Amino acid sequence: MDLTARLADLDARIADAARSAGRDPSELTRIVVTKFHPAELVSTLYAAGVREVGENRQQELSAKREALPDLPGLRWHFIGQLQSKKARAVRAAAQVVHSVDRDRAADALHAADPDGAPLAVLLQLNLTDDPGRGGVAPAGLESLATHVLTACPSLRVRGVMAVAPLDEAPAAAFARVAAASESLRRVVPDATWISAGMSGDYAEAIAAGATHLRIGTAITGPRPERR
Ligand SMILES: *Cc1c(COP(=O)(O)O)cnc(C)c1O
Repeated sequence: MDLTARLADLDARIADAARSAGRDPSELTRIVVTKFHPAELVSTLYAAGVREVGENRQQELSAKREALPDLPGLRWHFIGQLQSKKARAVRAAAQVVHSVDRDRAADALHAADPDGAPLAVLLQLNLTDDPGRGGVAPAGLESLATHVLTACPSLRVRGVMAVAPLDEAPAAAFARVAAASESLRRVVPDATWISAGMSGDYAEAIAAGATHLRIGTAITGPRPERR
């Protein structure tokens, strides 16, 4: 299968998973994760109609944006761990940041362009017990949301993001994400996005209410070695 066929195949599977869950496939945004692939892959995907791409490292994101011409309507999603010192570059290059997980990172994104057009951000949850993994513990979510609302007016909280842990059934992990999304909406009623689901677990994520899927290898094939 070539790239266009894999895209169509995956979209059909996503639509099936949505219908099985009693959901309308049009509620779902499929983000193609292009990390480690050359910038030309983004052009190829764009020509195939893709308008949402995801990168997990700031340097790679910035380099690709520089290498590519302006592609109207293309939205870049930053999905990797957000270091405060990279916040300025991330804000300059991404339209959506999925990985805000502490006050300091939010502050740095805000300070990068305090009077700029609002930046869509998601609050990343840590679903593991390992504090070294990215994300805020679910118990800290409402406090982080309150901080962003009150101290970072140039950021617009749109929802939550999470990666299912490897040692847990994805459905159980995504149920916790759905509960966290509800608690976030008590603070920010219109923060309805749920970024969850990758190549191996998008069906479970859709069943649990995901609105944004981050899909890499199922579309692109295996990633080249990290350069
Ligand atoms: C790489 C990555 C993905 C995509 O993973 P695949 O298994 O290739 O679909 C999704 N989310 C994040 C945060 C990633 O780093």
